[in-house]
Amino acid sequence: MQVQFENALIYTSGSFRRGFARMGEGSCRFSFAESLSSGDAVVSMPGDHLVILPALIDVHVHLREPGFSYKETILSGTTAALHSGYSALCAMPNLKPVPDSPVHLDEEMAIIRRDAVTRVFPYAAITRGEMGEELSPMEALSDAIAFSDDGRGVQSAEMMAHAMRKAASLGKIIAAHCEDNALLHGGYIHDGAYAKAHGHKGICSESEWRPIARDLALAEQTGCRYHVCHISTKESVDLIRRAKARGVDVTCETAPHYLLLDEADLQEDGRFKMNPPLRQKADRLALLEGLRDGTIDMIATDHAPHSAEEKSRGLEKSAMGIVGLETAFPLLYTYLVKPGVIPLEKLTELMSLTPAKRFGIANEGNFAVFDCADEYTIDPERFLSRGRATPFAGWRVQGRCVMSVLNGQIAYSAIETEAYR
Ligand SMILES: [Zn+2]
Repeated sequence: MQVQFENALIYTSGSFRRGFARMGEGSCRFSFAESLSSGDAVVSMPGDHLVILPALIDVHVHLREPGFSYKETILSGTTAALHSGYSALCAMPNLKPVPDSPVHLDEEMAIIRRDAVTRVFPYAAITRGEMGEELSPMEALSDAIAFSDDGRGVQSAEMMAHAMRKAASLGKIIAAHCEDNALLHGGYIHDGAYAKAHGHKGICSESEWRPIARDLALAEQTGCRYHVCHISTKESVDLIRRAKARGVDVTCETAPHYLLLDEADLQEDGRFKMNPPLRQKADRLALLEGLRDGTIDMIATDHAPHSAEEKSRGLEKSAMGIVGLETAFPLLYTYLVKPGVIPLEKLTELMSLTPAKRFGIANEGNFAVFDCADEYTIDPERFLSRGRATPFAGWRVQGRCVMSVLNGQIAYSAIETEAYR
């Protein structure tokens, strides 16, 4: 017995086409068919409102375990991801203990093996304790997907050069959180009109783009595979565009909030606080241009859950970070694809194909099914993540993940699936 969705929009050889989205027998692998061959024993379901695409991959999430399970756990974070169409997450290393040694990395891996409901690929730290002072034993950590000190920048150019040479010899990616501490001056939102008008301390754009410029030169010298995390400024886009043009092995990500919000959207509320901060309209427009021209390779969420209390202290005192796994696709589908800013194929590249390719994550047999007729209001109380802080609370969106297929098995489904078990 086969099951198929009729007239679904399914991703097949580079584009979305309407047709029969057919699941194979035994295992669930969607394939595209123009028509039915006669004699097929098939259960058909209407699929006009369904979009079926390769499962999403997020290369930048904070799952908070080990060390901070009051914010999130491997189980809660991956459950939120699975129900949102993700098959794989790369987990940042600002944990306790920091995965900066094989023993510490094993501690994280043991929780992943025990609890994760999607694949989780941990980053290992570039430096011991992410303190920036001593290189981690990178060779012994090469089971990690890549290296990052995310949460803070590697301040010393010498240390970064050292790390890049080592990473290059191992063929591993350095994924950099670019932030120059000497330029922060106690800032916590963007150093722009809103900060001025409301008496807040600002973070200048240079604190992001200056280290990117430094690292791009180092990547060019060392031949390191370099990836820039969460870019937020127009200067960052420009630097990376020019580096790509001269052949530097660089990719970068941005996050939905930098594409859809800027400082004009700020409110006196911790759910508008993240690092890097929401910038200016010109930055947001430059990021959109960077998406369109290929400078920006992927969209990650920088899903960074905190407790309600940690996010309740306003812009100045709240912890940095917002959640994103459960809102990313619906927001980008509603506010970028539907108005025609980017096509659905491009969003698929940004959220699935390019992350898979760059980070070497296999994704065959993994699918996400979204019901794009489902329109609703984002309600953080309904999140499966332990984190609730999002600047998008109350936004109207279209698109809800109704099925996730992992490795040919239905791992999550909101559709009546008994027929094809
Ligand atoms: Zn970061």
